[in-house]
This record gives sequence, C-alpha cells and structure tokens, in this order.
Amino acid sequence: QKSIAVIGAGLAGLASAIRLRSQGHNVSVFEANDYPGGKLTAFTEQGYRFDMGPSLFTMPHFVEDLFKVANKSVKDYFEYHQKSIVCNYFYEDGTRFSAYADKNKFATEASRTFNVNKKAIIGYLNKSKRKYDLTASLFLEKSLHKLSTYLSTDTLNAILKINTLDLNTSLNEYNANVFSDERLVQFFNRFATYNGSSPYQTPGIMSMIPHLEQHYGTFFPKGGMHSITMSLYQLAKDIGVVFNFDTKVEEIITNKRQVTGIKANGAIVNADIVVSNSDVVPTYRQLLKKHKAPEKVLQQPRSSSALIFYWGITKEFEELDLHNIFFSKDYRTEFDQIFNKNTVYDDPTVYINITSKEEPNDAPEGCENWFVMINVPSNKGQDWDEIIEYSRKNILTKLTRLLDVNLESLIAYESILEPRTIESRTQSYQGALYGAASNNKFAAFLRHPNFKNSIKNLYFCGGSVHPGGGIPLCLLSGKIVADLIQKNN
Ligand code: FAD
Repeated sequence: QKSIAVIGAGLAGLASAIRLRSQGHNVSVFEANDYPGGKLTAFTEQGYRFDMGPSLFTMPHFVEDLFKVANKSVKDYFEYHQKSIVCNYFYEDGTRFSAYADKNKFATEASRTFNVNKKAIIGYLNKSKRKYDLTASLFLEKSLHKLSTYLSTDTLNAILKINTLDLNTSLNEYNANVFSDERLVQFFNRFATYNGSSPYQTPGIMSMIPHLEQHYGTFFPKGGMHSITMSLYQLAKDIGVVFNFDTKVEEIITNKRQVTGIKANGAIVNADIVVSNSDVVPTYRQLLKKHKAPEKVLQQPRSSSALIFYWGITKEFEELDLHNIFFSKDYRTEFDQIFNKNTVYDDPTVYINITSKEEPNDAPEGCENWFVMINVPSNKGQDWDEIIEYSRKNILTKLTRLLDVNLESLIAYESILEPRTIESRTQSYQGALYGAASNNKFAAFLRHPNFKNSIKNLYFCGGSVHPGGGIPLCLLSGKIVADLIQKNN
C-alpha cells in the first residue's frame, strides 16, 4: 500500500484516483479550485443551467469501467441514454441534415441529402472502423513509450497495414478523394475538431473518429454532462479517496531522482507516488522547476481553444436538438485563420448545445439554455476583447440569417468563457482544449508519456499527455497510469 498524491481533480485525476484506490493505495487529491471536474463543470444563473465544458458524450463504457473496478453498481451513481439523432447540421446554402445514430438510417439520409451512393457512405464507415480496430490498442490503450507495446501482435498488425491508415494524406484530402459533394466533405472534415485540429493538416487516420460516433453512439447523462464529474467524485469519496480543495500544488518534491511528495499552501506532504493531472506544460514550468524540461514536447503547437457564449434564450426552437452545427461557408479559410493566422474567421462554424431539450428544468418554461461555441486559436496574447466582440456580432448575424429570427432580442442572460479564462480556471496551457494539436502524423509520438524515466514514481495523466484530450482519452490516461503503477509496485 503506497501513499499517492494526485495533482488535480480533472476527469483523468478522478479516474486515476478511483483506480489506484481500488488497488488498495492511500490516495489524496489536491485541487486548486473549490470544485472537482476541471473543464467539466457547470453553473446555474437566472434559472438557466449550463454545462460549461464538454457537451458531447461518447464511449460511456470508459465511465462505467470505473464503477466496475471500484466494485460499485453504476446505476446507483450514473444514468445516461443514447441519442437517436447525433447532431443537426445547417449549411449556408439552406441544406439541413440530421445525422442519425443508426448506421443504415444515417447512410440513407446522407445519400438523399448529398446525392451520393449509400454504399459509398457505408464503405467509408466500414473503413473508419477498420482504422480504429487496427490502432486503438496501440495508440489509445497502452503507453506508446514502452518497448512491450511494440512487441505485441496488435502493434505488428498495425505496422504491417500502415498503408491503410492514411497517414500521408490530410483528412481533407482523404475525404475529398472519397466524396465529391463539398457539403459531405465538410461534414466528415469536422471530425478533426474533436481533438482540436485542422482537417487540412491532421492526417487521414482521423477518419476513424466517425466510427466512434456511429458505432458506440452518442449519449446524454441524466442531469447533464456535469453528472459525469459528480458521480465520479462521489464514487471516489465513497471508496475513500481524500480530497483537498482550494489547494494549489506549488512543487513536486524529489530526492535522488525519485519523488518524495508535493508542496501545497507552503506545507510539504509526503507521498510515495505523485500523479500529475495538471497540464504537462505548467507541471514542468511551475512544479518541476529544478528539472530539465522536454522542450520539444512542450513546444508542440497547441490544439484549438474555444469561445463560448452561454445564452438564456426566451424562445423554444423546434428545428434544434441537443447538438446543432451551423457550418461556415468556407472551412478552409476558417481553419487557416485559426491555425495559421491565430485569429477567427468572420463566418465561423457555430455549435449550439441545448441541454434543456433533454432536461426541461435546465431552462425556465418556454425558454432554452444555449451553449454557443466557436473554435478559436489557443491564447498567444491576441486581443481577445476585440475578438469576442467581433465574433459575437458575426455569430448573431449568422444565426439570425439561418434561423430567421431576431436572436439578440431573445437573449435574457449571457456569460462568456474564452481561452484566457479556460487557462486561468484549469491551468491548461494557452487555454487549449485538448493539449497539443494532432496537426501532423507524428503528434501521437510527441505527446508526453504517462511516466518519466528520469524521475521515479512520477506519473502524468490528462488531456495534455498520452493518449490525448477529450473525455474518453482522458479516462484512458487514468487507466494507463494505474496499470503502470500496478506493474511497477
Ligand atoms: P482538466 O479538466 O484540464 O483539469 C485539470 C485540473 O487540475 C483542474 O481542475 C485544475 O484546477 C487542476 N490543477 C492544475 N494544476 C494544479 C495544481 N498545480 N494544483 C492543484 N490543482 C491543479 N471533450 C469531449 O470529450 N467532448 C466534448 O464535447 C468536449 N468539449 C469541450 C468543450 C470545452 C469548452 C472544453 C474546455 C473542453 C472540451 N472537451 C471535450 C475536452 C475535455 O473537457 C477535456 O479533454 C477533459 O475534460 C480534460 O480533463 P483533464 O483530466 O485533462 O483535466
């Protein structure tokens, strides 16, 4: 039985704490905020409840696993249901497309809307599945930085079939090769944003992401996304994980290339093992100042960030569902602005999430709680006040046009989250949503490993390290860390 200090109560911190406690260790979590969940939190104002960060829930089995390893019944903590429509899409030319979860229905609808052979859609999704099946165990479920990973048959199989992974074309090139309808290419290009990358730069292997949505489905947790955080927090407490809130860790203490504890609020807390769920950049720059930082890894370009308007809207919109996308007229220019010019496009793709569609109590009667988000570059000191004002105007113009309503007059409540506040609330370097971007084929190998060879008993989890950002991968990073600790102790 070891004493383990986890720095941060983000999803990966909670997942590793639950797994390590289930292995029998004494686990204490140190969290700078006065609440758990990091990016996955929520607030309520004037009768409108908003999930602040993630809104799309896929692969719920990774959450369920945590209850299983802790020997608890999921049903006592967490409920969710599958969505039959994944997302409603709106195009500038007036096209509307509902992406169904059912593969056959999806293909029928896509074939009708985009004038494409249904078989081509099914073929695309089948190929997407093959890519996922070939690579998941190598890239997502194990440490990429252990020799044993490369000696497994799964890995050899992936390497033998490397040509089928489309690593040498961009996602956009890959999609444009398969489909001629630009709207359909834009639809499949969008999946690059699931890890904060550009479809014009991220490799074609990312075409595996639609498979995850199509095969595993998308879900809505009862009580909203925040209940993922709160149920895991409750589970962790129930099995004996100790939480220290309002406790910002200032240093990871080491002696002879081995961790001995942490320093928080000026006091030293001894620990046999330290797991950092803090973004890897501040972990090195602030907590490990005496150690040499892996500069090449830390300097990888960040994924995109987000600008979100939380709007209380005094009307109900029948044509909208839980997830809605209003595409920009020119995706290439939009991503060029974000990733190459470090600014925003004047016709941004707008995502609207409305949880009151699922949970009527999330908004007053006759009203809706709109989470309105656009992709923006990570924070490199841009004039965000100006960008926010400009984007607000452009978003309102676009939605007013596409929904044929004077939207501004319907906004009864507003608050904003943007790269600076994402960074200050969660320590995420440059306010990036998913750590480093996956804008080149080596990105997976340039993410920081979940351990550090030169400092014994120090481990890393969360969206900025292997295997990457987003809820499922963060939860997997917690599993990889717990598995490594079990093996090493
Ligand atoms: P984080 O959430 O980054 O939390 C880290 C925690 O560590 C924080 O609580 C922080 O306070 C704490 N901490 C850091 N340093 C210290 C320190 N020195 N001492 C003490 N505590 C410290 N993912 C999806 O899957 N689907 C989505 O739809 C989606 N949409 C998103 C939308 C937005 C607006 C945002 C912001 C993110 C979105 N994501 C989405 C990404 C997802 O939220 C993240 O990948 C995931 O929640 C990150 O979890 P994490 O474990 O890395 O920790």
